[in-house]
Amino acid sequence: MTQSSRIAPDQLPRADFASIPRYSAAAGSEIDLSDNTNQWGAPPAASAVLRQALDISRYPDMYGDSLKRTVAKMTGLGPECVVTGNGSDDILDCVIRAFAAPGDCVAHPDPTFVMVPVFSRINGITPVPVPLTADFSMDADALLATNARIIYLCSPNNPTATPTSVDTIQRIIAGARGLVLIDEAYAEFTGLEGFLAEAPVFERVVVCRTLSKAYGLAGLRVGYATAAPTIIEIIEKSRGPFKLNMMAERAAVEALTTDSEWVAARVGDAVASRDRLATELRAIGLTPLPSVANFLLVPTPKTFALASALREKGIAIRPFRDLPGIGDAFRITAAPWPVMERVLSALSDALRSAS
Ligand code: PMP
Repeated sequence: MTQSSRIAPDQLPRADFASIPRYSAAAGSEIDLSDNTNQWGAPPAASAVLRQALDISRYPDMYGDSLKRTVAKMTGLGPECVVTGNGSDDILDCVIRAFAAPGDCVAHPDPTFVMVPVFSRINGITPVPVPLTADFSMDADALLATNARIIYLCSPNNPTATPTSVDTIQRIIAGARGLVLIDEAYAEFTGLEGFLAEAPVFERVVVCRTLSKAYGLAGLRVGYATAAPTIIEIIEKSRGPFKLNMMAERAAVEALTTDSEWVAARVGDAVASRDRLATELRAIGLTPLPSVANFLLVPTPKTFALASALREKGIAIRPFRDLPGIGDAFRITAAPWPVMERVLSALSDALRSAS
């Protein structure tokens, strides 16, 4: 190999990676309301199981079989209809990679979960953003008109916290050219069934869930999805073995079984806190979007001033710049009320100095 034929160090990465963002968000705040996790903590039985001795010299189960069986039991499906992953991020990435080839398109609502266009691009696939309707629902006709290989739906949607009607989702499933990937990361807060148990009935639907939000296990990285067995087999090829570590799998099974009442109670707490927070925010002149999740999206041109004022007081919220149809807005996670009171007081102060 001559020196001149070697690839220069700055030419080593794939050319299109130069414009792909590396995900970053405010971390390390005393109060972190930026990521929609469970602000009441982790479930007790799942935490207890982590203190038991495990033989970690062994590999974990290849595909997370005990979690597959647990989800199967919960949904009335067979384990062959369930796939597990290293967070639902991992599952979204694996699905996109397996069902669209480089050069194909993934249609997604805009705004939606920021990692979806990123996962598409790192897999060589073109993301096609489709604006939400005026009432922040998914635009079924416009999504279908993209003719995309995959249509991604997020219900409730992140960052808007708004739901999409069953009717709209069914219409998209009925008319889609390719796969429909439904992300139900916040479904537990809606009190509705979602499409989890129904996914395998359709031949082109994957429904994805996470244990990072309602289930309080964000640090362990566990996600799962349901679909027809033929689809699951393809996702597992894309996923590969050993993605779910032994401790995460054990804790996830406990969280979904022994801890289910604890989780339901904390979901109730989060919903009550969210509604009370929305009322208090309106009282100080802000206008949060109607939410069915454990967070609120609050459009305001003062977003970045508020976020940095709160940050100085050790409180992280998530600011967004110029969201389509919304403008600048911040997202804030519901937390126990004493925490919300502290945040509301900091917000009121910041609003006064920003005006
Ligand atoms: N989907 C949505 C809509 C999300 O908001 C998130 C987390 N922010 C994820 C998926 C990924 O969650 P995790 O990888 O922690 O399961």
